Amino acid sequence: MEIIVLPMKVYGLVKIDALDNLFDNFLKGPTIFRNHEVLHPDYVPENLPHRDKEVQMIGKILAPALRGYRGSNIFIYGKTGTGKTAAVRYTLDRLIRKSREVGAPIETRYINCRIAGTDYRILSLLCETVGVAIPFTGLASGEVLDRFRNTLDVKKLTLIVILDEIDALIKMHGDILLYKLTRINENLKGSRVLLIGISNDLHFKEFLDPRVLSSLSEEEIVFHPYTAVELADILSERAEMAFIDGAMTEGALRLCSAFAASEHGDARRALDLIRVAGELAERDGVSKVSEEHVRHAQKKIEEDRVVEVLKTLPLHSKLVLFSVYLFMKSNVEGSITGDVFEVYKELCGQLALDPLTQRRVSGLINELDIVGILNARLVNLGRYGRTKKIRLGISNDSIKEVYSMDSWIGPLITYTPKCLHENKK
Ligand code: ADP
Ligand code: MG
Repeated sequence: MEIIVLPMKVYGLVKIDALDNLFDNFLKGPTIFRNHEVLHPDYVPENLPHRDKEVQMIGKILAPALRGYRGSNIFIYGKTGTGKTAAVRYTLDRLIRKSREVGAPIETRYINCRIAGTDYRILSLLCETVGVAIPFTGLASGEVLDRFRNTLDVKKLTLIVILDEIDALIKMHGDILLYKLTRINENLKGSRVLLIGISNDLHFKEFLDPRVLSSLSEEEIVFHPYTAVELADILSERAEMAFIDGAMTEGALRLCSAFAASEHGDARRALDLIRVAGELAERDGVSKVSEEHVRHAQKKIEEDRVVEVLKTLPLHSKLVLFSVYLFMKSNVEGSITGDVFEVYKELCGQLALDPLTQRRVSGLINELDIVGILNARLVNLGRYGRTKKIRLGISNDSIKEVYSMDSWIGPLITYTPKCLHENKK
């Protein structure tokens, strides 16, 4: 075989490549991270400071499974980032380890319901746990449940099913599956199922049929938000693993805890902050993460969150928001609901869409107000009654940036509605 040797000149070209220089400079710069992985949201730490009590409670409820009794179903709830998923996974890892040690037939299955998305998908994941393959579609849910139950029963074991972010599933598809799962033990002889439901929504109980609620919450555990001091403990333990010695300064760490504490005591936000701050420091080519990097990280995470919300809004909410943007862009100081509705209708006309009623649009405005994208303030119009003055809760630029790319709104980005045209004259 003939080997072709490329002349050096070709390599020479690569050497002056700007991108190559960039990579070299990055690699020459100081390293900040010792282990970036431990800041990943899925990482389950060896230690869960300030969750001893909750871990012990879960352990106590599940321990009977080691002797072959079913134990109780558990319903866990608390805001995002309060350590629910981490505490449950941690406790179950330890339970499984113990069950292998003593030879107790226990299996666990973790399912994130929001990601799984449908009842059918959850059922097929359960089937997979007991080794039954299910086609993507085509079977009736009842049939899939039967196959799962029959195979499970033969295996003679206790199956602990964790249904994480269960609120997302129930709000979309109702609680039929949950009802069936809470009743499943009635038809099992050799095996048993224990359910752990986890919800990020504290008011989720209201969505459940009382019978489902009472069987799911045989035991109930609430996870409270972390305080700034607790977050600082969690962070310093993780930062020690993630960063090389001295890279994360005391002040930066304290600021991350303070920011995340004001964000409903969210450990996920705290960890995101130290990770992004570290990445920004690394990008700057410096060896220490400063408070300035943390402030910058906070701003970046917040902007990313806004972009994500803007992108994923339903079309009519986008149009309502865009209508308010058009007012703000023309320097109209706060528009009232009626005016926003007029512009919204006009935009619908442009896109050949049927507009929603003013009542529905008013509802959408309220929803956007709740997530902080709009600010609506009630004002008195004297004998004309009351209305809302509406302003954007975020910058004009972020709307322009995100919606220029939107397949519906993009073509209208420089549009001037008729009523604003008249204003200008
Ligand atoms: P939730 O499920 O309540 O939304 P998670 O359990 O996913 O919250 O926690 C969010 C992040 O914070 C995860 O990366 C988790 O490892 C971490 N975390 C939460 N609580 C603790 C704790 N007490 N100690 C260490 N890390 C924690
Ligand atoms: Mg979770």
